[in-house]
Amino acid sequence: MKKRFLIGIFMILLVFNVTGCGANQQNDNVNVEDTVSKDGFLLGTYVVVKMYDSDNEEILNKVFDRLKEIEDRMSINIDKSDVSEINNNAGIKSVRVHDDVYFVLRKAKEYAEITDGAFEPTIGPLVKLWGIGSKDEKIPTQPEINDSLAQVDYNKLKLLDDNMVFLEDEQMILDLGGIAKGYAADEAKRILLENGVNSAIIDLGGNVYAVGSKPDGSPWRIAIQSPFETRGNHVGVMPESDISIVSSGDYERYFEENNKRYHHIIDSNTGYPAWNNIAGVSVLSKDSIDGDALSTALFVLGVEKGLRLVEKLEDIDVIYITKDNKIYISSQLKEKFELADEELELIIP
Ligand code: ADP
Ligand code: MG
Repeated sequence: MKKRFLIGIFMILLVFNVTGCGANQQNDNVNVEDTVSKDGFLLGTYVVVKMYDSDNEEILNKVFDRLKEIEDRMSINIDKSDVSEINNNAGIKSVRVHDDVYFVLRKAKEYAEITDGAFEPTIGPLVKLWGIGSKDEKIPTQPEINDSLAQVDYNKLKLLDDNMVFLEDEQMILDLGGIAKGYAADEAKRILLENGVNSAIIDLGGNVYAVGSKPDGSPWRIAIQSPFETRGNHVGVMPESDISIVSSGDYERYFEENNKRYHHIIDSNTGYPAWNNIAGVSVLSKDSIDGDALSTALFVLGVEKGLRLVEKLEDIDVIYITKDNKIYISSQLKEKFELADEELELIIP
């Protein structure tokens, strides 16, 4: 029996009184009626931007125009995007891309190197083969997986002078699905700040940026929602300002067959969805592009390797929730993380 799910039933993150999920509201002096917001479907996800200290809708239009521009350049599903041009010319010739695409590619390659391929921007052939979330989703055969695996290698993504980009083998496919939303959140934040907005929430389906602070100047209270369906509410809360929170998990896009969950984050070592005991992972960072690449990578790496990596990185924090009811937080969060779910055992390295 095959069960199929698109985008999961819950999001892992809430910002109190901002995403307005009834049960999670806390009285934090944000008057929701004062907010001006805009939403829409972009970059394959539901996007909401809410401003708390401005009612100038023109600013929101500028933000959404920029998000659309990013989608038009980076989406694999848009024929004339820079990413599609790179893919269509794989093994043939290099292609000149816009500055922002080149910037994201540099970051993608950097994270591929830092994570030893756990973040893998050339994962495309495997994403296509599995088709998770599409009408063609299926469990491939081992020979098919081996074939696709042979086409995945970030070392063959060449970033040349003058914004020229080249994939060395014809069958290679670049896929920025694990990093573009983070960049988009950063750009949305930049535009808000440039227009004098200092209290806002940007939400790109699990990629959240809490801009500035609450309108009264106090920090946002960032809540990490429980990834366990049977329990409502949140697992913990942190006071934070100017912070990106990106969550990844196997609950977002998947199908189930024979009691196994086949989901959308692929392990480039095995060619299969990354299987582990993680119920959800959230990454806190100043720039959302870092959090996005890392949340995908930290899910693939698992708790032990992931925590070790995060402790070496500057200004990056992580919260792992495992299926056996443990919550691991990086050491910098020790002072500010307030555990809210008594069924979880808190572990700090
Ligand atoms: P989401 O917000 O949908 O969970 P993620 O940031 O977790 O997105 O990234 C998942 C997407 O990234 C997949 O849909 C796919 O396009 C791409 N992807 C899958 N596996 C990897 C990987 N190991 N490294 C980089 N990108 C990946
Ligand atoms: Mg990601």
